[in-house]
Amino acid sequence: MTMTLTRPAVSVTELTKTYGSGDAAVHALAGVSVDFAAGAFTTIMGPSGSGKSTLMHCAAGLDVATSGSIRLGEHELTRLSDTALTRLRRDRIGFVFQAFNLLPTLTAGQNITLPLDLAGRRPDPDWHDRLVGVLGLADRLHHRPSQLSGGQQQRVACARALLGRPDVIFADEPTGNLDSRSSAEVLDFLRHSVRELNQTVVMVTHDPVAASYADRVVLLSDGRLAGDIVDPTADTVLDALRHLGD
Ligand code: ADP
Repeated sequence: MTMTLTRPAVSVTELTKTYGSGDAAVHALAGVSVDFAAGAFTTIMGPSGSGKSTLMHCAAGLDVATSGSIRLGEHELTRLSDTALTRLRRDRIGFVFQAFNLLPTLTAGQNITLPLDLAGRRPDPDWHDRLVGVLGLADRLHHRPSQLSGGQQQRVACARALLGRPDVIFADEPTGNLDSRSSAEVLDFLRHSVRELNQTVVMVTHDPVAASYADRVVLLSDGRLAGDIVDPTADTVLDALRHLGD
């Protein structure tokens, strides 16, 4: 892959995030610059407390950085008002969370279309059917989340995240609550969505096997960029994680 030549979907420059102040200050991000290429699957990894969630939440406009810049397409996130940021998140970003975050009273089908319904946008029916087909959900659309397995619920969450064709999908430990078979299905889909459906995925995980599905792994340590692996395997990722402190 020639990722260095592709346009970044998200461009993070000199990002810092400090919690507290004075002696109690915690530098969750201590100056991180990284591009997430469009049409690529990037994973963020690192030890617990290294800043992965903070980086993802800031890049996705869910949290506000202390300083630095985050560009999504033509938008500078750090300059947007709360309202503009909410709208941009709704219209341009897809989310997949560890806990699925489906609404229990709605059917799978209603969960999938909810964000677009709330935005007053009409889903593209061909794209909807393609996603539902690839995800194997066609005969599950009338089920409620409680009638679905964890893997099926996460596949519903994937369809919901992709339905609006977002500029980028942020996935936060999407396989953290799944068994290995369901994990593989969700990761296969995320990779498929990048390779075949031309989507952009940024995923946080602590699992080297999950990370090996990505095109690239970005490593964090103590709030700083500490490594970059192209075409990772579980072994190269494990090795890099082991040597982080060296
Ligand atoms: P990771 O996702 O890699 O485990 P985080 O981004 O959650 O790391 O956290 C990075 C650092 O910031 C950690 O030291 C963590 O304790 C600290 N941190 C995160 N959120 C808060 C918060 N709300 N208040 C204070 N410290 C925080």
